[in-house]
Amino acid sequence: MTQAASLSPIPFIDLGAQRRRLGSSIDEAILKVVDHGGYIMGPEVFALERALAEFCGCKEVVTCANGTDALALILMAKGVKAGDAVLCPAFTFAATAEVVAWVGATPVFVDVHADTYNVDAASLAMGIRKAKEQGLNPVCFIPVDLFGQPADYDMLEPICTAEGLWILSDAAQSFGATYKGRKVGTIGIATATSFFPAKPLGCYGDGGAVFTDDAELAVVMRSLRVHGQNNDDKYDNQRVGMNGRLDTIQAAILIEKLKIFQDEIDARNRVAARYNAALDDVVDVPMVRDGLTSTWAQYTIRLRGADRAEFAARLKAQGVPTAIYYPKPLNQQTAYKHYPSAGNGLPVSDRMAIEVISLPMHPYLDEALQDRIIASVRAALR
Ligand SMILES: *Cc1c(COP(=O)(O)O)cnc(C)c1O
Repeated sequence: MTQAASLSPIPFIDLGAQRRRLGSSIDEAILKVVDHGGYIMGPEVFALERALAEFCGCKEVVTCANGTDALALILMAKGVKAGDAVLCPAFTFAATAEVVAWVGATPVFVDVHADTYNVDAASLAMGIRKAKEQGLNPVCFIPVDLFGQPADYDMLEPICTAEGLWILSDAAQSFGATYKGRKVGTIGIATATSFFPAKPLGCYGDGGAVFTDDAELAVVMRSLRVHGQNNDDKYDNQRVGMNGRLDTIQAAILIEKLKIFQDEIDARNRVAARYNAALDDVVDVPMVRDGLTSTWAQYTIRLRGADRAEFAARLKAQGVPTAIYYPKPLNQQTAYKHYPSAGNGLPVSDRMAIEVISLPMHPYLDEALQDRIIASVRAALR
């Protein structure tokens, strides 16, 4: 191999490879929508909802405009309001807490485990105590299945049950994963996911969905996503809602991508297994707990004391891109730092933000590219 070829940049996510695999099927699906003209709530939207329900085994799917709206629809439908506290991790994407503030409630941040990056049950219990001390009414907990691995539900659920909290699962990164035989989308009272292009199941723009077995909740969310309209009389708005629909074209694209999604998840798992085997003597590799599967939305390692900026620069010089999810936990961010946190600060979240770095991860990363990335990581740490 020539020097130039070995240094050609590797994409962090390769949507082009997926498009080549899908051939003309997506183009045809888009053209069909353009021809029939049902751009808003066309037949593909309902066909996708049925296909998603079948994929994860839940009763109701309500598609919507993005993952943030999916979270918001659930909080709005449940009537979460000012004076309520919603517990969530600090080590997550801002949308998890943003929606809580939208409805006037207070996010209370809790800490995560260093090995899975998901919420630590002991910290959740402390966060609930903190919320009560502040005169808030804790009503809901949003576990985030970070980087594609389901949270520790068997440890978290009993605490929520004992305290009267219901669970909204933020599965923006984990749709397609499993928890001890249960598919993501069937855990908690409702689950939100995102079809942002970089998520494991992404469309060609913004999209999202809510999964639930609660038919009454689904009726309310279907109303809320169209300005709170009466599902039978569209000129009588029953509640204050939003414009939160999924475009028909995005639904048509997702129907095609869903057909190969399980195969893509399997491919991501093969990449992760190979990375883990080749790197675990030099960095802290991500671990998936027994009985769980991940969608590997990100493959995130931790450096054992090496300088992260220097490490990233060395990889970049080899054509290997990296990304940092997340450089600042929410408890440190300008818009969120005034909200309460569990206990005395969130030491693990703070440390993760300093140590983590994510490597290229997608289903079309062949073994030659994996080996180049592995060799670059090892060289950068020497
Ligand atoms: C991406 C993401 C969201 C938001 O999804 P959008 O479709 O971008 O609105 C929410 N939570 C988490 C954890 C995410 O990764």
